[in-house]
Amino acid sequence: MKLKEIGEFGFIERFKPLFGGLVQGAQVGIGDDCAIIPANDKEDWLVTTDLLMEDVHFLRNEIKPEELGYKSLAVNLSDIAAMGGTPLGSFLSIAIPADMEVACLDAFMQGYHQLSAKYNTPLLGGDTTKSLKHLAINVCVIGKCPKGKARRRSMAKAGDVIAVTGNLGGSAGGLQVLLQKRSYAGLSAELVQNHHLPEPRLNEGLFLAGCDGIHAMMDISDGVASDLVHILKASGKSAVVDTDKLPFSETLRQMADEFGWDAIELAASGGEDYELLFTVAPEDWQLVQKEFTQKFGKPLYAIGKITDGEARINWQRNGQTISFRKSGFNHFQ
Ligand SMILES: [Mg+2]
Repeated sequence: MKLKEIGEFGFIERFKPLFGGLVQGAQVGIGDDCAIIPANDKEDWLVTTDLLMEDVHFLRNEIKPEELGYKSLAVNLSDIAAMGGTPLGSFLSIAIPADMEVACLDAFMQGYHQLSAKYNTPLLGGDTTKSLKHLAINVCVIGKCPKGKARRRSMAKAGDVIAVTGNLGGSAGGLQVLLQKRSYAGLSAELVQNHHLPEPRLNEGLFLAGCDGIHAMMDISDGVASDLVHILKASGKSAVVDTDKLPFSETLRQMADEFGWDAIELAASGGEDYELLFTVAPEDWQLVQKEFTQKFGKPLYAIGKITDGEARINWQRNGQTISFRKSGFNHFQ
């Protein structure tokens, strides 16, 4: 059997039970955006790590080194945001081809530093080694949250409103711009920026985790079509999502019209938008929406609702059930 036959999640499921028995007390291990480790009687620690591999996650000639440094940290901070946590520090390990320009590496670290400074997250250590060909980047971020308050994927309840913190599909549109070498009326640069410089929603995650009625939360790294299923599986629930409610930017709409892309498909399954996906009790939804908009000057978007039933998404359009097969980015398949 080859790895590509079972995919990355199939591989994880093979060893996850082995280690489950070693997880102690209130620790939470494999399967959420972060691991949770009790710190003291007031706080929990959060730990997340992510590997970015050249030619799999990024094309070295298409992304500026400072953007790559920024994005490497951003995708990890996004996982801290997904739990409603605050980052404490990061660790960076890089395997570097020996012929890489030092100026490139300096620029990479400047981008990494820019985001570190923005969210007060010091680089606390790491490792460097030689790589024979590809650049590989691993980041680990440690964070904290009030004890027992981390928002987990398993917390969705039937009747919850499913919502997201911002536009979807922009990053996937940016990737299409790069792959298809598209350029259109200055709009393409905005999508490429969505792809290269995602903003970790740390302030939003912290705010939402403090609101009454917020249940499950995660960040959108692989696309709603794939990521929401993780919430459904962890919570033992089903969902109805209306494709017409998926938010995307006017820029993506115009680019999709011009180049024949399906903006809804990009918004549903594109991935790498790093907005937050969460569920909220229906009686609390309006207040959360109002307070969020007052605080951040932007709306939340309701895209569907959690129901009892099989852990799958029932897609609807104009109230009619439709089939939708794109299921997000799954490595090794
Ligand atoms: Mg995540």
